[in-house]
Amino acid sequence: MPEVLLNKLTKEFPALGGKPLRAVDELALQVRSGELMVLVGPSGCGKSTLLRMVAGLELPTSGDISFGGKSVINIPPSQRDVAMVFQNHALFPHLTAGENIQFGLKIRKLSVTDLAARFKEAVEMVGLGDCIHKMPRELSGGQRQRVALARALARRANILLLDEPLSHLDAPARVGMRHELLALHRHFGMTMIYVTHDQAEAMSMGQRIAVMESGRIRQVGQPLEVYQNPANTFVARFLGTPPMNLLRGKIEGNNLQIIFAPNIKDADGDVALGIRPEELRLLGGSGSGADTVCFTSIVDTVEQTGAESFIYATVGQQKLIVRLQGGSSFVQGQTIRLGCDVKAVKYFDARSGEARYAV
Ligand code: ATP
Repeated sequence: MPEVLLNKLTKEFPALGGKPLRAVDELALQVRSGELMVLVGPSGCGKSTLLRMVAGLELPTSGDISFGGKSVINIPPSQRDVAMVFQNHALFPHLTAGENIQFGLKIRKLSVTDLAARFKEAVEMVGLGDCIHKMPRELSGGQRQRVALARALARRANILLLDEPLSHLDAPARVGMRHELLALHRHFGMTMIYVTHDQAEAMSMGQRIAVMESGRIRQVGQPLEVYQNPANTFVARFLGTPPMNLLRGKIEGNNLQIIFAPNIKDADGDVALGIRPEELRLLGGSGSGADTVCFTSIVDTVEQTGAESFIYATVGQQKLIVRLQGGSSFVQGQTIRLGCDVKAVKYFDARSGEARYAV
């Protein structure tokens, strides 16, 4: 399977009033041979534009795209050995589900035997069954999704690009399809780029994830590694629900000692302390060890989900969220003592937002 390499890839769109809109900005990314890479980022950060350039549907303004070491910039989409599944499925409304799947194979002039074999395999892999005789309008969103996937799989392209393919499904169907997609990837082993704005989907599906913001990649890595060691405050806040707490702190003296100062005004602090809501725990009485950062806070609101409770609290002038297992009986205005293992605290430069691994 080919490696996909993006080098200084840039895409600008003309914009009213002069300055072009830079949707993708000198972006570099390596997707390894047979890897499932998830591109994740907020709406409008350039994910779809990036994917469309890889597919050849959009021409880059500058930069290079190579598959297996060869530039494909001048190769038309039909010759790129790439299959793509779009957010809106894009099925032909006048063809049955089965005909939609076969369409791409017919225009590739496969032999009747090959066509039948590929069709059968793809239909079985996505579990379409009798639906193949139905028209797209007679199918549910999930079934249309399967048709689009089967059509892409039947191509047997070595690179599969998926742009928010599960966005029309309800929550349980999404989880089911995620597992099926992972099984398909294991079976075919193609190089896969999967685009989503849903960080939970990215975390659960990607072998590696690339977090995008404003046309650039802010961090690439294995999901847990990125979650536990975000390279900057953007990634820290984007991954995780609720997001990582960021509290301003201060470095004092030559020793660069962190002073945890909950009452400081924003401008006074030059360090942001990052603490995941699940890393905070309640401290009873005086109980805290030398390795524990501890502080007092006031409860604002409590959200109960059944399995967990989220305590929204204030420390000095700063807000934070605590994630606790099970229910909680805290009430607004109550004072609580919170603690966190020193090792679980991340430090970021308050101005640039970049992680500081030493303080
Ligand atoms: P979403 O998750 O909402 O689909 P995205 O991350 O996929 O967003 P893109 O669709 O790639 O984002 O868009 C990136 C930026 O480029 C946006 O500001 C968008 O408005 C702009 N853009 C995309 N396509 C065009 C186009 N054909 N012409 C002009 N601007 C465009």
